[in-house]
Amino acid sequence: MQCQTVLPGAECTFWSKQGCIFEGNSCQLVVEACQGCDRIADGTIGPVCSVAPSPKQKWKSGLCNFATHQKVEIQSVETKVNPLKASKKAAAGKK
Ligand code: SF4
Repeated sequence: MQCQTVLPGAECTFWSKQGCIFEGNSCQLVVEACQGCDRIADGTIGPVCSVAPSPKQKWKSGLCNFATHQKVEIQSVETKVNPLKASKKAAAGKK
């Protein structure tokens, strides 16, 4: 349903016939770590996140997974596999 308080007109899964059912019956303001994120929206209570009602919770255990301004660097470990050895290993395991 559409929010009618913090982000009027925005579709929100926390808005019900009884109003906002999120903790405290409202979205919470963005935290410092959110600064620079494209998902910050101007709510009636101030800057809020357009995808997460509790930005503080999103940063609780590390980087927010919705953040647009910071990304986790995933380092891929390239392992070179010798096809001949891999074939021999596979064959040895099939006894
Ligand atoms: S997506 Fe994450 S970083 Fe961006 S505003 Fe929302 S909670 Fe903050």
